[in-house]
Amino acid sequence: MKIIVHRGAEEIGGNCIELVSGKSRILLDYGQPLPKTDAATGLPVEAGPEAAVLKIPGLYDNKVSHPILALIISHTHADHYGALLAKPLNPGIKVFMSEIMEDVVRITTKMPRDGKKLPVGINYFRRNHKFIVGRFVITPFLMDHTAAESFAFLVESEGKRIIYTGDFREHGNKSNAFKQFLAADMGPIDALITEGTQADVEKGPTEQDVMDHVEDMVKELNGPLYFLCGGQDIGLLTSLAYLAKNTRRYLVVDGYTALLLERVKGLAQKQGVELKIPSLETEYLRIIRNTATQRVYQLTEYAETFRRMRPKMFGWDWVRDNLDRLIIPVRANAQEWVAGEIKDLRGAALVYSGWETYTEEAGLPETLAWFKAQGLAATEIPSTGHAYFSTIRKLVENKRPRYIIPVNTEHGEKFTKTFGKRACLLKNGGELEV
Ligand SMILES: [Zn+2]
Repeated sequence: MKIIVHRGAEEIGGNCIELVSGKSRILLDYGQPLPKTDAATGLPVEAGPEAAVLKIPGLYDNKVSHPILALIISHTHADHYGALLAKPLNPGIKVFMSEIMEDVVRITTKMPRDGKKLPVGINYFRRNHKFIVGRFVITPFLMDHTAAESFAFLVESEGKRIIYTGDFREHGNKSNAFKQFLAADMGPIDALITEGTQADVEKGPTEQDVMDHVEDMVKELNGPLYFLCGGQDIGLLTSLAYLAKNTRRYLVVDGYTALLLERVKGLAQKQGVELKIPSLETEYLRIIRNTATQRVYQLTEYAETFRRMRPKMFGWDWVRDNLDRLIIPVRANAQEWVAGEIKDLRGAALVYSGWETYTEEAGLPETLAWFKAQGLAATEIPSTGHAYFSTIRKLVENKRPRYIIPVNTEHGEKFTKTFGKRACLLKNGGELEV
């Protein structure tokens, strides 16, 4: 089996990995690269989905003797699926996601009026259910990460086995998923392709540790708490809902976040899983009538959910009157309504974590920069979105792969230092035969 890392070998984001077995070819993830930073302003410059397109034979054309059979997406962060939206793929390529992932991407793409469309006919995979593509047998495993759902894949072919971790951690709200991943008997592993976004951190706090610290802070706070949180970070939204409950505040989200929460919960229920996430039944959840909420109203396919959202909806007067009782997750472009409608930032506090977390939703770095510039009390908490190196070490000790290929990292040297010759640092376009 041959592994080609087309992108993501030397940087964070934009992942695309090809596996070849005989005449069968598949791709794992097709992400949009992260924005480049403008040297003058220090702010990210979005290159747009077109810049994400890779020239892989057979991806957009038919001029190959061995076609690409499938593109399998690990999770719904743009740096892992965004390039899929840039340009229609060769229609012969089957795109695989979980049902929840498809829903999250479809809703997200519909939010801007001119948003790029996700192709129809997505194929679903389910956790722990093997599926076959050409000569490959693929098993998805649920992982703990900040997206609505994230998966690692075990890919088997020609008697060889490769693990691709996608993005993961072991210290978030789905830490059990990592335990189950370690416990799964997969047989001898030839190569582990692992993310290493936070590989420079040997060990850090759990998300719960961080939230306990924030809770102490909020108890002393006399104004609103703004908390930078990607719209899809359902784990963090769940923690914020508990924070609201424990501090007798309201969690105020927009219609987009409310719709995602409700849809994810509903789809999981359909599969017999009861997720402990906030929903329209959560007593202290409120929805603000902003432009995102109006946009959801225009999406008639979600009319039934919107109707159930109505009793939870409040206008700006209510927000202004209750500022000291609110926890407001801030996602991309929140500055528009905070500046336009709330205006008063006296007594307010902002909590945000290191930049890594925000690489996964376009527009968040600009939002953070705006909030910081307003001079409100800002607290930086440790970034907890990705595996610390101690977790990667644990994974390597458990699965004992012959080779370790780090991707999604700027800390390749840490892998060489720790794992010696087993660490295989590829360049973009580089290959390894196992
Ligand atoms: Zn991610």
